[in-house]
Amino acid sequence: MLKICEEELDDLEGRYPGFREAILRFEEATLPHCPSCGADHTADVQCGITGRTINIAAATTKFKLVANGLRPGRYFCNGCDTFFDVGSNPDTVHIDDEAIPDQPTD
Ligand SMILES: [Zn+2]
Repeated sequence: MLKICEEELDDLEGRYPGFREAILRFEEATLPHCPSCGADHTADVQCGITGRTINIAAATTKFKLVANGLRPGRYFCNGCDTFFDVGSNPDTVHIDDEAIPDQPTD
């Protein structure tokens, strides 16, 4: 779910080219349901705190940011605050946000 308004999204797109597209990919991604509580509002877990990833995490509930080297699970449940992993799931999209620069361009 998008957590910021269109205006903020425009502002971030100006600072991080490709930001809007990446956020929309997260928003549209099919993520596995939580095996504990069955919630479907889960997030893709990514390591590495940078200006870019902090802003992505602030923009969409489908991105969960953790510090480097501390990835407790592949996915995170926003319903019960639990990290979890699933086996190979053909419906799962791995999201690659590498296209967005780590630092603002200005
Ligand atoms: Zn859950």
